[in-house]
Amino acid sequence: MPFTPFHLGPGVLFKAVGGRHFSFMVFGGAQVLMDIEPLVRIYRQDPFLHGPTHSVLGAFGIGAVAGVLGKPIGETLLRWSGIAHAPLTWPVSFLSAFIGTYSHIVLDGVMHRDMMPLWPLAGGNPLLGVIPVEALHLFCLACGVLGGLILARGPLRQLLKP
Ligand SMILES: [Zn+2]
Repeated sequence: MPFTPFHLGPGVLFKAVGGRHFSFMVFGGAQVLMDIEPLVRIYRQDPFLHGPTHSVLGAFGIGAVAGVLGKPIGETLLRWSGIAHAPLTWPVSFLSAFIGTYSHIVLDGVMHRDMMPLWPLAGGNPLLGVIPVEALHLFCLACGVLGGLILARGPLRQLLKP
């Protein structure tokens, strides 16, 4: 499914671990860019949904685009929101974008039969069914909960202060 929120679970954990070295916003933007192709194919009623974008090569191209767009768009949104934040640097933008696109093809690869991660070098999907889809969803959910707990640590401690 395009724009599945499950991709964001690991993103929350990456943010909790990476702190100011990881942009959840650029990561999220990369998820949206990755799933434009499947969305267009759904509307066109194509026989398959995951084409070149869902490959190692495609993830590089989309990661590069997300990295270039991520910094200016992310900075603008953060400025509008008025939220205090660390500067969104180019390395952070590109790192977050590539983590976004490559984690995307790994997670999607486990569950989508029509994916060809090694296109154009090889067909087929070696990631398919590596773990059951239910376990994949549980993993993504657990990442989100764990990351959320780590991120909430500071504010929670403040709340619980006598
Ligand atoms: Zn996808």
